[in-house]
Amino acid sequence: MKIVLTGGAGFIGSHLTAFLLNKGHSVIVIDNFITGRRENIEPFIGTGNFDFIEQDVTKFIEISGKVDYVLHFASPASPIDYLKYPIQTMKVGALGTLNTLGLSKKKKAKFLLASTSEVYGDPQVHPQNEDYWGCVNPIGPRGVYDESKRFAEALTMAYHNFHNIDTRIVRIFNTFGPKMRPDDGRVIPTFFMQCLRGESLTIFGSGEQTRSFCYVSDLIEGIYRLMFKDYHYPVNLGNPEEISIKKLAENLSDVTGRKIKIIYKELPVDDPRCRKPDISKARELLSWEPHVDLKNGLRETAKWFKSYLEKAHNE
Ligand code: UDP
Repeated sequence: MKIVLTGGAGFIGSHLTAFLLNKGHSVIVIDNFITGRRENIEPFIGTGNFDFIEQDVTKFIEISGKVDYVLHFASPASPIDYLKYPIQTMKVGALGTLNTLGLSKKKKAKFLLASTSEVYGDPQVHPQNEDYWGCVNPIGPRGVYDESKRFAEALTMAYHNFHNIDTRIVRIFNTFGPKMRPDDGRVIPTFFMQCLRGESLTIFGSGEQTRSFCYVSDLIEGIYRLMFKDYHYPVNLGNPEEISIKKLAENLSDVTGRKIKIIYKELPVDDPRCRKPDISKARELLSWEPHVDLKNGLRETAKWFKSYLEKAHNE
């Protein structure tokens, strides 16, 4: 297949690119590097089936020839990124989704939207299943991301219902692994960098808040399975193994073999108290479930952060 992937220079996007190329597909990545990184796509350049367009997808997208699939993954996605780029975040969720759906319509291509567990906001239902509508503060600091993804989902369903576009929606829960941006502010890269530099780990609030972390290879496998399913409503993908942020810090200490110090900082506004996916739908529809447990995933990720720091040190 010829696949257009927006956001292919990002963390998840670059893992997805590698996976798709490996399956023999040809991939055109579009990215403007607002939060993605050039080094994430450098290994693919010149490999034959890979093309790159440096572009902001909120502008009209021009692709020549046939396209079989459009995957819309472009967006700032970590809380500090979307707080830094609130307008760009809303534009890529709104105009970027409009343009990529328009491209699908023109090319008669299938479409997949990367949505998020953030559509559930600070959830009042636990674990979160796809039928839950969420609890989002539209004007809070996270509203720019949450609402743009909610809009993107609504637009995707509208194109499916009114233009018969063959669409899919994946709601991605917290994901981690190699190639995360060390300064993206998310808890796992932040804790790793702090731990490896001998700094104190910054826990926001009491650390009793929970998340459920999925290793990136498991997520990518789920996305690929969903691409081939004739199912148009949202599907949660994530690891239901729930853990408090305090406990996560202890796990990092075990994995890196370093004694950690902790400092407590103020909890960001609207920080969800808990998050855990109900993955019954993915299990049933895709015969999918995660296989990499948190500790093993953290071990792999630790290796990557260590070599990243060594490289940075030698440069
Ligand atoms: N967090 C923390 N210390 C940090 C960064 C994050 O305690 O240095 C907390 C944050 O408040 C949240 C959780 O870790 O409760 C996960 O944050 P992240 O930014 O990774 O993603 P979120 O799931 O909130 O979008």
